[in-house]
Amino acid sequence: MKVALTLSILLFFGVSQYLVAQVLPEQGDPPPPENIPDYYKNTLEEISEQVKSVKKGSVAQIATSAGGRPIYAVYYGEKDDFQSQANYNSAVAARNPAYYAKKGKSSKPVVFLLGPVHGQEVEGMVGMVNLLQIAETGKDHRGRAFPELQELMSKFRLIIVPLANPDGRARNPYDSYVGLPVEIMTKYGQGTKKDGTLWRWPHAKALHPMRGDVGILGAYFNDDGINMMHDDFFDPMAKETKAIMDLVKEEVPDLTVSLHSCECKPFVIQNAHVPRFMKDRIADFALELNNNFIQEGLPHRPEGYSLARGQDDPESPKSSFNLVSALHHASGTMSFTFESPHGTLDDGATHEEILDIQLTLYRTILEYTLDNRMYWE
Ligand SMILES: [Zn+2]
Repeated sequence: MKVALTLSILLFFGVSQYLVAQVLPEQGDPPPPENIPDYYKNTLEEISEQVKSVKKGSVAQIATSAGGRPIYAVYYGEKDDFQSQANYNSAVAARNPAYYAKKGKSSKPVVFLLGPVHGQEVEGMVGMVNLLQIAETGKDHRGRAFPELQELMSKFRLIIVPLANPDGRARNPYDSYVGLPVEIMTKYGQGTKKDGTLWRWPHAKALHPMRGDVGILGAYFNDDGINMMHDDFFDPMAKETKAIMDLVKEEVPDLTVSLHSCECKPFVIQNAHVPRFMKDRIADFALELNNNFIQEGLPHRPEGYSLARGQDDPESPKSSFNLVSALHHASGTMSFTFESPHGTLDDGATHEEILDIQLTLYRTILEYTLDNRMYWE
């Protein structure tokens, strides 16, 4: 039904790059989950439609992907003038980030929600689409009202990139992984070698750009084989990465989250390469978020779950300077990775739970940011 509708839209309006239909599962792959709820919106068409419906915010195309697809940012709330006179690194060396951005008590808090850079991690896309619907109408796509969340959002300069890797999304044949074996996510997420064996995590990072021994190019990557999480941040290979870095430098978010998923209970990953005070903030936030999951009866980590705060890798490098590390060092933002469950057989989360996990994450981010602002003046 969905496929037929997509094709007829394409024929009627002409092919827009963004609407290029997604691939289908190969023969022998498990069929997509039955009865994916209508609110579980995450296809390129559904994301595009949601972005086009924005009226209260503004929309900009911040980049064109390697495959020629647009990447959108949606903005709510006026941007303050930070009277920048130096880049972040130089301002820190001058002993005050205010030289980079004056963010005093009268400045509006800024939050940047960076939707998936990995195209099979549809759960964050579902969250972003529903959050945009709440920003516009007060209700999510289930019809559930979130007046407090909507009110909370109005206090911010909020930047939402619902999907940072449309190329990868177009190569992901599944609109949901709920109830599926994790192997199928691994096949299309990290991709296969020419002989059909799976690249898997973390070996899929051993070849970058992902070119050469590639059967199915994983949804991790853009059409040039770049995994934005592990781009070369001093000389980005992907225009998508460059656009995300530019956006953060311009917007100076108090907090930035990069949305990911795995076969896991939801959790925050510590940012391995940021100063200690920032690790403390991220660990405090992770604790608050896990407590909220517990309180709401959602999948969670054990009570008191805490992230490492000390220095990592005392002997040899094991944790990389990745996208969220780079975003901190470019702008001072409190940046970290969030992992949602996919709902595979291994983690067992339901569609309802996955959306609620996302909405609880966003609410906790806004509450934490209001309660724990860092002023630069
Ligand atoms: Zn990921």
